[in-house]
Amino acid sequence: MSETSRGRLVGKTAVITGGAAGIGRATSLMFAREGARVVIIDIQEHAGKETVEMIEQAGGTGHFYHADVSKSKEVDGAFDAIKADIGAYDILFNHAGTIIVKPLHESTEEDYDRLMDINVRSAFLVCRRALPEMVSNGGGSVVITASIASELGYALEALYCMSKGAVLQLARTIAVEYREQGIRCNAVCPGFVKTAHGLREIAELDDAGQTWEDGDLVATQGRICEPEEVATAVTFLASDDASFVNGHALYVDNGWYTKG
Ligand code: NAD
Repeated sequence: MSETSRGRLVGKTAVITGGAAGIGRATSLMFAREGARVVIIDIQEHAGKETVEMIEQAGGTGHFYHADVSKSKEVDGAFDAIKADIGAYDILFNHAGTIIVKPLHESTEEDYDRLMDINVRSAFLVCRRALPEMVSNGGGSVVITASIASELGYALEALYCMSKGAVLQLARTIAVEYREQGIRCNAVCPGFVKTAHGLREIAELDDAGQTWEDGDLVATQGRICEPEEVATAVTFLASDDASFVNGHALYVDNGWYTKG
């Protein structure tokens, strides 16, 4: 992975939910390398602050705010603090999310509420809060993390597929509703990525009798994706390089979705 920067985000400020670890951390570091001031919102205090240190050691500027983005008070508290401390921002990467691997008939209402809160309610709360602020700053770019599971169905992942379908539709709707106000909004749709989330998903599916560690991964997407390979796609969508790309679902899956 090239560490070179084209300065594509110089002068921009980017807010990243779930920016402390995994794909979010890789994107925080890449955004900073491209010149953005990076503002991380996450529940993982230690990892969030560590990511900020990594940004600053590399000569960039980063900030961390602790919030559970599934809770409206915490979302508003973080955005109030960002407004007071930092001011306007141009990029929103709505990334925080999680997964439950379980047969549908064993899934509880608590599972449903938890996954919908963390994956869907959070995107609603964060985008609802950020969009007017971005519009009043002249517009900007929103990227939402969806998934290959947004449009394909996967056994043992009913709740997850439902939640990721919802956020893809949110991205498309924002693209249409806010275009005239200077906002572009796109979704990134990864396959399996080498993060805590992706590795736990593979292990749990494997335990349930699927064979992801042995062969299915090779057959579907060739190999596991590195977090930086998703970050590259997000950086493109966030930057002015994607100035006419709006309402798009960018698959980062080495052709898996295309093959079906
Ligand atoms: P990860 O678990 O390493 O990172 C998720 C980040 O989100 C963590 O920093 C975590 O602390 C944060 N987070 C989770 N819940 C939060 C909350 N309620 N409030 C604030 N922050 C919270 O995993 P990752 O793979 O880097 O990211 C997961 C996201 O990527 C999810 O949205 C998931 O749907 C999506 N995704 C992952 C894969 C994959 O294979 N890894 C594939 C497709 C989509």
